[in-house]
Amino acid sequence: MKVLSVLLALFLSVLSVNIKKPVKYIALTFDDGPHPKYTPQILKILYENEAAATFFVVGENAERYPELVRAEYDLGFEIGNHTYTHFHLNEKNINALYDDIKKADDIICKITGEIPKLFRPPEGKHNGRLDGIIKKAGKSTVLWTVDTRDWAHTDKEKIIENIKNNVKNGSVILFHDYIVPPSPTPDVLCEIIPYLKSQSYELVTVTELLRHKADIGETASFFIG
Ligand SMILES: [Zn+2]
Repeated sequence: MKVLSVLLALFLSVLSVNIKKPVKYIALTFDDGPHPKYTPQILKILYENEAAATFFVVGENAERYPELVRAEYDLGFEIGNHTYTHFHLNEKNINALYDDIKKADDIICKITGEIPKLFRPPEGKHNGRLDGIIKKAGKSTVLWTVDTRDWAHTDKEKIIENIKNNVKNGSVILFHDYIVPPSPTPDVLCEIIPYLKSQSYELVTVTELLRHKADIGETASFFIG
């Protein structure tokens, strides 16, 4: 009888290994913050749901709310550079843009002790010259694959539907923690994170996602350098 129960246990453990779904990786990203109201709410939701994420902070806001950047860092979230003034690229101002990026680096480094390794250009505007400058500065340029358009106060249900329809292994989802109120983002997160987990998605930082590059095969669409 004992042998039988041992065999049964063995069979069940083999079965559970075989039916385990393969893990898929995605990165949630939050731009333009920190925001005094929404960033703490978002941090709480992420923390309670054991979800990793990356915050592309704007230097001006980091300067205004350093304790929130510190909280992001202390809780283990990744922090990227999103310029100091949300500077948009055009051909003429690339040097000024670089100064703006440097200024954001200095502020973030003062708060966390680390210079961000990731850069996200405001509005995703970039070109080969900027990409080269960023790479030379030891950073990677990170875009996204799913745009929630939460900043435009898109309806919560629409955002959730958009994510459900477009998410796949290797997706980088663009949210904003700095939004002119009211923000749909905290409510969206409360619903979408448990859903994503139920679909075998592991929520990781952008750097962690890039570590799985070989398995996801979608990096070309969001990652430069
Ligand atoms: Zn932005």
